Amino acid sequence: MSDENRPKIVIVGGGFGGLTAAKELAKHEVKVTLIDKNNYHVFVPMLYQVAAAEIDSHDIIYPLRDIFSTWDHVSFKLGAVNNIDLDGKVVKSDGKEYPYDYLIVAAGSTSNFFGISGAIEHSFPLKNMEQSIVLRNHVICNYEQADQTNDPEVRKKLLTFVIVGGGATGVEFAGALSELLRGPVRTDFPSIDYEKEVKIVLVDALKSSVPFMPDRLQNYTNEKLQEMGVELHFNKMVTEITPDKVSFKDGSSIDTKTVVWTAGVQGNIAASDWNLPVGRGGRIAVNEFLQLPDRPEVYIVGDLAAVTDFKTEKPIPMVATAAIQEGTHAARNIVKDANKYRKKPFVYNDKGQMVVIGRNRGIALIKGRQFNGFIASMLWMVVHIYFLIGFKNKLLVIISWAWDYISFQRLGRTIFPALKKEPEDGYNASCDCGKN
Ligand SMILES: Cc1cc2nc3c(=O)[nH]c(=O)nc-3n(C[C@H](O)[C@H](O)[C@H](O)COP(=O)(O)OP(=O)(O)OC[C@H]3O[C@@H](n4cnc5c(N)ncnc54)[C@H](O)[C@@H]3O)c2cc1C
Repeated sequence: MSDENRPKIVIVGGGFGGLTAAKELAKHEVKVTLIDKNNYHVFVPMLYQVAAAEIDSHDIIYPLRDIFSTWDHVSFKLGAVNNIDLDGKVVKSDGKEYPYDYLIVAAGSTSNFFGISGAIEHSFPLKNMEQSIVLRNHVICNYEQADQTNDPEVRKKLLTFVIVGGGATGVEFAGALSELLRGPVRTDFPSIDYEKEVKIVLVDALKSSVPFMPDRLQNYTNEKLQEMGVELHFNKMVTEITPDKVSFKDGSSIDTKTVVWTAGVQGNIAASDWNLPVGRGGRIAVNEFLQLPDRPEVYIVGDLAAVTDFKTEKPIPMVATAAIQEGTHAARNIVKDANKYRKKPFVYNDKGQMVVIGRNRGIALIKGRQFNGFIASMLWMVVHIYFLIGFKNKLLVIISWAWDYISFQRLGRTIFPALKKEPEDGYNASCDCGKN
């Protein structure tokens, strides 16, 4: 079939949902254009390891053009989508127009700050590569500044790290930060007394961390975090964040220059400008085929989609495995539709949940079976390596982990590059070494 006669499919977003949709479509007689504001795919579940200097940023990104070079009829365009003309079936991105017969929107999610005063401006979210590098720089910068002052009040604020949100990301980052600060950073900064001066605090509004796990695994996680020196503050609601303090509803507060925000997620806020019917949590409700109910040529997948499992009628979680399954499913339904076959409703295959807390400490819930300790942390590693794109990346991550494991070292503890503002979240978290 000539290129002209193939159905034109535009995909917005080259994350888990968009990339797997493109991979599936590449097997068929269609013409695909994938648009992303970055020219690389990011393996988001390991961003916290970049922030905690465990791995290098380049180990978990992969150039999209390189992936597409081996796929037929899939092309890449770099650009931030600013609008979608649903009637005219055109995607608009940075002044360019991309007409489509079918559209897949897989633009992911952004942090949800729940309107808490100062949270956007003064906290550090952990949702994309820029933010994880900014956070890593900030942590190391704080140490450099603490090393240069004898003022105990200033040192206390610089060396207190508060993580808001006891979900998987908050727990994983708290554990990784503790290993970084108790290990190599402690040796780097002999002027700082880790035991007396450094504090890592994990805060959550609920009564435990990892509330989506069974009680036994919740207790295990809390115990292990405490063993690693992380202070746990549960049933605490954040009311305000300033550059020097985080305040809580019960009237208490913690003096700190670092509040890491992992407490909330919503559909990508950019999508509210795209004429799409954005609903609760910034997500877009789709039917059982993953289509917009009144625009059957438009499919939404991944974190941006509010999907209900066709069989169980349960809402599908915002996780990479769901985005991958939805991307493949939407692509297959488009091919079926284009060939006048009947589309299939989406059924989610829940592969389980895993969280790694630190060295030999992890939890996993797979098909109702609970695992913890070394086995769970190994399962986590194997699954994450399996899904990571590119042989080189897999190899580099394995080498980094092996090196960290054997040597207790972290090679990525450099302040580089000095990133500034991330426009979407509107926060300013530049590294301001030497200002205090
Ligand atoms: C720190 C962290 C840890 C996580 N850990 C796990 C885990 O262990 N297991 C798990 O299953 N899930 C995990 N998740 C969740 C998982 O990463 C997401 O569910 C998954 O990435 C969603 O895939 P997606 O395709 O919807 O979005 P993404 O993978 O985020 O991709 C969205 C894409 O859209 C692009 N984009 C955004 N806006 C625009 C625009 N305006 N124009 C063009 N392109 C745009 C982005 O650049 C990006 O490439 C984690 C998430 C985070 C933040």
